[in-house]
Amino acid sequence: MASPLPKDKIPVFFEDTSVAFASKSDSRLRKTYWLFSLMNQARVVNLGTFFLKLALKLHLPIKNLIRVTIFEQFCGGETISECDDTINTLGKSGIGTILDYSVEGEGSEASFDDTAQEILNTINKASQSEHIPFSVFKITGVASSELLEKVQRKERLSDQEAELFSKARQRVENLCSHAHKLNVRIFVDAEESWIQGIIDELAYEMMEKFNKEKAIVYNTYQLYRHETLDALKGAYLVARQKGYVLGGKLVRGAYMEKERLRARENEYFNPIHVNKEATDSDYNSAIDFCIENLHHISICLGTHNEYSCQYCAAKMEKLGIDKKDSRIWFAQLLGMSDNISYNLAKANYNVAKYVPYGPISAVLPYLMRRAEENTSIAGQSSREFLMVKSELKRRGISSL
Ligand SMILES: Cc1cc2nc3c(=O)[nH]c(=O)nc-3n(C[C@H](O)[C@H](O)[C@H](O)COP(=O)(O)OP(=O)(O)OC[C@H]3O[C@@H](n4cnc5c(N)ncnc54)[C@H](O)[C@@H]3O)c2cc1C
Repeated sequence: MASPLPKDKIPVFFEDTSVAFASKSDSRLRKTYWLFSLMNQARVVNLGTFFLKLALKLHLPIKNLIRVTIFEQFCGGETISECDDTINTLGKSGIGTILDYSVEGEGSEASFDDTAQEILNTINKASQSEHIPFSVFKITGVASSELLEKVQRKERLSDQEAELFSKARQRVENLCSHAHKLNVRIFVDAEESWIQGIIDELAYEMMEKFNKEKAIVYNTYQLYRHETLDALKGAYLVARQKGYVLGGKLVRGAYMEKERLRARENEYFNPIHVNKEATDSDYNSAIDFCIENLHHISICLGTHNEYSCQYCAAKMEKLGIDKKDSRIWFAQLLGMSDNISYNLAKANYNVAKYVPYGPISAVLPYLMRRAEENTSIAGQSSREFLMVKSELKRRGISSL
């Protein structure tokens, strides 16, 4: 990791909880406090997720309980129109929304078609709202993971599999072409390494078609992988050669444990960096590379890392790049790192939040991952919990 920036070289600070939670009433803040204090306890989260799964399986009436607690914190609603309040609240603070249809489908062709249709609806919604700067989708929402894996391994496909892959490719093209037609930027989320190769191929194919004038399609770069920084630089050269703009969402990567486990079990080289410092260093080098080549690259930093956001802001200032330059965005998840999103927006940078939505039972896996992420690590309270606690203290109100 690069050495910390000297204080006078940091253009934006994230400690101001009065800005971070300005849109939350005292009672809402108390509720958030209780939620994070519960999630802060690993045992509560383990027990809670176990009982939630069980209760849903047994069809016990717990949806309302989920709705007024964890769902309200991390999701915009069950449908696009239910997200309107969230879109407007964020918009008032200068923060965009990225509608993220977070349903992890059952993998049938019909469910892929339904998901593709829902993503088209999010693109339509984005085209009608000044508060929705991007749309997003996961390739595994519109194609089978097993099939993608087979294609990536270059295994021979049966006639039926070849047809299914061609349908999946067509769904991806329909989404990107619709986004292009309506001038809505679209992220292709990154997934596990055993399917990421084919996801990259599809994303580059779409960029070549739709990014001629500007970045519409953005591929995602997981900097926790050894090879990603070089891959990003290579992708830039190809884009220049073929005459299109490279769109890149820079993330560290969400599947570290799964990747390590699979590499160990199957005895191949673990694609993930040996430590966090190596990931951080590649992440910040990727920022450097993209910002130095901004004539042909547009980026979005998908991160909750304060240092990386400050590093990018400082680099922009150093190179005289306007804070509102449309080629640079920052993005966080709804319900997390509001201190970063709201303070960046207040300082006039381009910021957006992923706003997950979907039927409660279908977004449950997403909610459980957020709960696990917010448990205390080795006795240290989660960042979110400490932030909310300090805002309660600043307002001089009790948590009761
Ligand atoms: C808007 C947005 C969009 C996202 N889109 C995607 C996506 O498409 N695909 C995807 O995979 N993820 C995505 N993510 C999740 C992201 O990859 C990270 O998992 C998450 O944001 C945490 O990383 P961080 O940069 O926020 O912060 P930090 O807390 O600084 O970093 C945590 C991350 O560092 C890495 N790390 C931690 N420990 C180690 C270690 N020992 N060795 C090596 N690396 C380590 C891991 O990637 C871990 O998630 C997205 C996140 C956001 C906010």
